[in-house]
Amino acid sequence: MRTLITNGTVVNADGSQQADVLVDGETIAALGQGLAGSAVGANVDRTIDATGKYVIPGGIDVHTHMELPFGGTFAKDTFETGSRAAAFGGTTTILDFAVQAKGKSLREGLDAWHARAEGNCAIDYGFHMIMSDVTDESLAEMDQLVAEGVTDFKLFTAYPGVFLSDDGSIFRAMQQTARNGGLIMMHAENGMAIDVVAAQAVAAGQTDPYYHGVVRYPTFEGEATNRVIRLAEAAGVPVYIVHLSSHDALDEVRHARDRGALAFAETCPQYLFLTLDDLGNGFEGAKFVCSPPLRPAEHQVELWKGIIRDDLQIVATDHCPFDFHGQKDLGVGDFRKIPNGLPAVEDRVDLVHDGGVVAGGITKERWVEICSTSPARMFGLAGRKGVVAVGADADLVVYDPARKHTISASTHHMNVDYSCYEGRVVQGGSDVVMSRGKVIIENGQYTGARGDGRFLKRSVARDYLR
Ligand SMILES: [Zn+2]
Repeated sequence: MRTLITNGTVVNADGSQQADVLVDGETIAALGQGLAGSAVGANVDRTIDATGKYVIPGGIDVHTHMELPFGGTFAKDTFETGSRAAAFGGTTTILDFAVQAKGKSLREGLDAWHARAEGNCAIDYGFHMIMSDVTDESLAEMDQLVAEGVTDFKLFTAYPGVFLSDDGSIFRAMQQTARNGGLIMMHAENGMAIDVVAAQAVAAGQTDPYYHGVVRYPTFEGEATNRVIRLAEAAGVPVYIVHLSSHDALDEVRHARDRGALAFAETCPQYLFLTLDDLGNGFEGAKFVCSPPLRPAEHQVELWKGIIRDDLQIVATDHCPFDFHGQKDLGVGDFRKIPNGLPAVEDRVDLVHDGGVVAGGITKERWVEICSTSPARMFGLAGRKGVVAVGADADLVVYDPARKHTISASTHHMNVDYSCYEGRVVQGGSDVVMSRGKVIIENGQYTGARGDGRFLKRSVARDYLR
């Protein structure tokens, strides 16, 4: 199959150009002006006219939780529904988190996640490994996983009794990645202190979702962020802070980078576009319960500065949807029992385009960089994903930067009964989405097949250090 995409503006992180793109099989075969009608562009099966549109590398969402068990229930999107929704939103790769349960091996967790994803994904996918039990055995297993292309390990300073690792365990895992080339990802909030404040709030009758946002102080996130970066510096390894939400945590990343530490961080759409106020309105606020929580509006300005100055390199979603009716309501009367997580995998690329590029805060090139190119470089996919270039996988989106649409649970494709952005009008949308050369979204319809997506074995090239 040969497809020629003509007359579009090819947008890469390092610049844009008017160019045609020739796709041959699963990869990009040629890029340049006037391919249509030339010998290179001859004998194509199909031509897609991208006049007035961008041609961008498909989005890469490095933080999703399909089917995650949490708080006695499961995140509602399966790999099938969640990956298809991602495709509708212009995302062609997800990196999800396999989970090591306490007392179990990494292998058991990884096998379980492979079984859930295999044959079900609409787009390519890879795994990070959540470590919740650091032992001699699980440390040794890390090396094996790296060899299998599962190259990053997420640890937590939050959720005591579930995912939390103590500082010694975190440090041991960091030492191991210093040897095997992997990367440590950290959920950085001081979960022990949060639990104290949360118990005090509930005892005082403050049980509404709003208090979820109050008790998880920004300074608890700042403290843990500084702590894990310092531990990584001591171990001599890079560290990646997931879902950074606050000015406090950003300051710690910025200071670390200023002194030369290999500290990296992502933020998420919910921290850029939603605030603590959304957690109000009685139990309705449960729709917005995630951790770290939504912050007061003044934090958003700082996060945008972080993106502009590259102290934040990536926007990922932490997609982890729970129905409002039947799941979030587990926490009626006690916000601590509300499953943590929001739906977002379908909306990320459009929200950042609208709120970043259209609003004038960042360029379209920076939008591509934080949604696709940096994720590829950070997570061992550089050159293969995240770029429109000869030889790269033909994960391409023909993107209409002018078309407006209204985000709504009644039209989205995520398997969840509400949207955090209900009624929000965004400018920009994916017209055609291609995964390794195959058109999977067109005219608002899914044209792919379950199981098109393949497992991505990733490298430890550390391209983000270049
Ligand atoms: Zn997460």
